[in-house]
Amino acid sequence: MLQCYDCGKTYPEEKALWQCDCGSYLLYTTPELKLNKEKIQKGPFSLWRYQEALPVSEENRVTMGEGLTPLLPVTYEGREVLLKLDFLQPTGSYKDRGTAVLVSKLKEWGVKRVVEDSSGNAGASMAAYCARAGIECEIFVPAYTSAGKLVQIQYYGADMVKVPGTREDTTLAAIRRAEEVFYASHNWSPYFIEGTKTLAFELWEQLEWQAPDAVMVPVGNGSLVLGLYKGFSELKEMGHITRLPRIIAVQSANCSPVYRAFHQGLDVVPAVEKQATLAEGIASAAPVKGAYILEAIRESRGTVVIVQEEEIKRALSELGRLGVFVEPTSATVWAAWKFLQQQGDWSKGEKIILELTGSGLKATDKLLELT
Ligand SMILES: *Cc1c(COP(=O)(O)O)cnc(C)c1O
Ligand SMILES: [Zn+2]
Repeated sequence: MLQCYDCGKTYPEEKALWQCDCGSYLLYTTPELKLNKEKIQKGPFSLWRYQEALPVSEENRVTMGEGLTPLLPVTYEGREVLLKLDFLQPTGSYKDRGTAVLVSKLKEWGVKRVVEDSSGNAGASMAAYCARAGIECEIFVPAYTSAGKLVQIQYYGADMVKVPGTREDTTLAAIRRAEEVFYASHNWSPYFIEGTKTLAFELWEQLEWQAPDAVMVPVGNGSLVLGLYKGFSELKEMGHITRLPRIIAVQSANCSPVYRAFHQGLDVVPAVEKQATLAEGIASAAPVKGAYILEAIRESRGTVVIVQEEEIKRALSELGRLGVFVEPTSATVWAAWKFLQQQGDWSKGEKIILELTGSGLKATDKLLELT
């Protein structure tokens, strides 16, 4: 069942939808919550091992082996932290978790052509999975997007439309196009979060069926924050864990609407004016699911941290020296972890996860300018 976050109206799953009639966003409610550890371990070597908690039938699965990424412990300045190398997925970003489930649902619905807008990684991921599923897709991207992501989208055979102006202008253009073609937006679709919630299941499995103490993630439109919140909440409801890990969201100081709303104690996220940032993957001035993002962070006893451009640059080199090459957006969590450490936020022995979302190979053009 799908339910509107604002007005509560419900819809059956059989209908291809991306939005409630009232204009707000929909969430998916899992009809019967179950996840069996033995079934998981006998399942495929991909996120589809959590099939019991996923909203698409096995016959409609569109998969390239997404999920099951390494969890790498590193020690830095005497502290251990666990790096989730989630950029090691078929298209080079964590987005494949959400897209695999969303595109499988599109296939189940029999949708033949879609439009999506993206700052790059979601577009690349959508283009790849649509290619696998035989669905035609149009990807609208901001003209400033890194060349690596644009080339990738073209090679997967999508029709790419470069939109001048801001990220928000790109969304407006895609929504206009959505009058004719199904809008398979990762920021709107409830099914994308159904895919990203497997990050929670996977961490639980990798930590020998326990929840970590905290997970740090970049936040733009919130698919990771919300996926973690939904995934860990479901595990708690099933009795597999006793409490949610703290969800700590990270934004760029140059575009920080969630940070501001959270620390001002608001229940919604007003749009902000943003400045240019290296963290292009989280430069969202007006996140669609703002109220739900704030709920997720507060319910998990988490917080929101901002990082400066200089700190992002330093984080990129520090991660590189550890053998980890990520794109600038992903490096924000490393900078934020160091900041919270200085604040004395962590107690010894706490299990902290840093979610690393996108490969450095995606942004070589921009990274080259920094060296
Ligand atoms: C999309 C993306 C994010 C942010 O995800 P949201 O759902 O917008 O919060 C973070 N890092 C990378 C590399 C991304 O592509
Ligand atoms: Zn509604």
